[in-house]
Amino acid sequence: MLERRPAEHFVCTRCGARYPLSAPVWRCTCGGLLAIAYTPRFDRRQITRLGPTLWRYRDALPLPKDVDAVSLGEGYTPLLHGRVAGVPVYLKQDHLFPTGSFKDRGAAVLISQAAALGVRRVVEDSSGNAGSAIAAYAARAGIACDVYVPDGASPEKLAQIRAYGARVHPVAGGRSAAAAAALQAVEATEPPGPAYYASHVWNPFFLHGTKTFAFELWEQLNWKAPDTVVLPVGNGSLLLGAALGFEELVAAGMISAPPRLVAVQAEACAPLATAFDQDEGLPAAVGVQPTLAEGIAVPEPVRGAQVLAAVRRTGGQVISVTEEEIAAALRAWWRVGYALEPTAAAALAGLSRYAAQGARPREVIVSAITGHGLKAMGHVAALLD
Ligand SMILES: *Cc1c(COP(=O)(O)O)cnc(C)c1O
Ligand SMILES: [Zn+2]
Repeated sequence: MLERRPAEHFVCTRCGARYPLSAPVWRCTCGGLLAIAYTPRFDRRQITRLGPTLWRYRDALPLPKDVDAVSLGEGYTPLLHGRVAGVPVYLKQDHLFPTGSFKDRGAAVLISQAAALGVRRVVEDSSGNAGSAIAAYAARAGIACDVYVPDGASPEKLAQIRAYGARVHPVAGGRSAAAAAALQAVEATEPPGPAYYASHVWNPFFLHGTKTFAFELWEQLNWKAPDTVVLPVGNGSLLLGAALGFEELVAAGMISAPPRLVAVQAEACAPLATAFDQDEGLPAAVGVQPTLAEGIAVPEPVRGAQVLAAVRRTGGQVISVTEEEIAAALRAWWRVGYALEPTAAAALAGLSRYAAQGARPREVIVSAITGHGLKAMGHVAALLD
């Protein structure tokens, strides 16, 4: 007799093991990354009836139907039109989120899921924006929050995390040491109860939040997919969310093909750009130099193979930009009114490169401003002199 399987579950991308969505898991016991098997619904009339937040795509999110969203009014960010290197482009204003970065897309959905599970404490590791986003939504939900940060993380971002009431734990030894400390904290049960790992890197609910970037674009482009999407990539939480969103739209028959995905890295820390150039499927082992683009300085991206596969599958590419290009893009975009942080400027430097290398006639190109300049005014001020 056929086993009757529940329609929605976690499935391990390595060994195929399944877990119910009601389990507080974030990784398979085999160590593999989890995906969520789920069939989203897209009813255009229903979508346009709901308010201007990412929750208008609620029927396309794998959350229990009876659960209240943990929301600060996030999403449905404006899509503006402009020109780069003479080429028309659209820019999604993802710096206009409650905490000042696109990470709110993932945090809102992940923390809504955690609240539905009855979680009382979450743990995250991040050098800045993901920590702020998880801290804000945990505060909104009344969930305690501990954030493990590499020492040397930007003081403005640490202050933002603390202001939301989260506890900040500086860890010596960089990004990987902070991740290890967070994991230890998840395994040690302390008051008010077992912690849930709200990782923007591992937890698949985060990507089911960032996929709303693709849905909003589809709607804002009059229910069409663009030809090309240019995004900054460190761990790949925005690019992989967008890839997932476009794949779901294709599977539902809403668009015929996903856009080309173009990833942008800083030359100073470019494991994916290097792997792409060398035709490798895994992130390259690279030396790391200091970079203005702290938000994409990820030397060992856990989802690196997934990013490379998504870029290749869509006929895209990985571009790397220099520190000079990042600084020039930051100054140029501020001078026309856009308040962006250096990491966001890296993406726009990549967009200029992409446009200058020769866009196709009438190619619809979209990029994003991923983080607000007010988060990093120290760095911005230093670049003005
Ligand atoms: C986190 C972040 C990125 C990169 O996201 P990844 O998930 O690391 O690829 C880009 N820009 C800003 C402003 C960010 O905060
Ligand atoms: Zn597994």
